[in-house]
Amino acid sequence: MKQTLENLISAREIDQRLTELALELNKDYEGKTVSLICILKGGIMTLADISRKLTFDVEFDFMDISSYGDRMESSGIIKINKDLDTSVTGKHILLVEDIIDTGRTLVYVVEHLRMKRPESVKVLTLLSKPSRRIKGGITPDYVGFEIPDAFVVGYGLDYAQRYRNMPGIAALSMETPES
Ligand code: 5GP
Repeated sequence: MKQTLENLISAREIDQRLTELALELNKDYEGKTVSLICILKGGIMTLADISRKLTFDVEFDFMDISSYGDRMESSGIIKINKDLDTSVTGKHILLVEDIIDTGRTLVYVVEHLRMKRPESVKVLTLLSKPSRRIKGGITPDYVGFEIPDAFVVGYGLDYAQRYRNMPGIAALSMETPES
C-alpha cells in the first residue's frame, strides 16, 4: 500500500501556537502547581514542548491506554495499561492530548481522572477534529489547531508506530494498488 503525506502544519507553526497557548495557561494557572498528564505515546511532543514554556510549577505523570478499534478509529472501549504513578487528589490536572477525534477516549479518561477527586481537570489538545465529535463529548479547554477530517501523523502521532518523529503534522493517505 502506497502511503502519501501532505504537509498540514509546520514545526514553526506548532511552536508559535504552543507559545500562544502557554501565555494563556501562564495567566490561568499563575501561582498554582499543576499535574500535567500525558497519554502515551502521542502526546509526548506536545507535553515536552509546551511544558518548557510554562512559568508555574508543574509535575508530570503518564497514562498508557489501549483503545480497541481499527488502526484509524477508536471504539471507546478502553483498557488502562498504566495508570498514574502519583496521587492527584486535590490537585489541578491539565490533560495534555495529541488529538481529539470522536472524543470517546477523552470522555473515558476524564471520567477516570475525576474519580481520583482532583481540584480541577482541564484538557489541552494540540489537534481537534470538531466535525468528528460524538454527542455528549467533552469540549477541550485549550486547542492548538482545529483540523478537517483527515488521518494525520507526525509530532508524536503515528501510523503503525511510524512517523512519530516528524517535526510537523501531515495528512496521510493510503492508496491500494487498484485504487
Ligand atoms: P478519539 O477517541 O477522540 O476518537 O480518538 C483519540 C485517539 O485516536 C487519539 O489519541 C489518537 O491515538 C487516535 N487518533 C485519532 N485521530 C487520529 C489521527 O488523525 N492520527 C493519528 N495518528 N491518531 C489518531
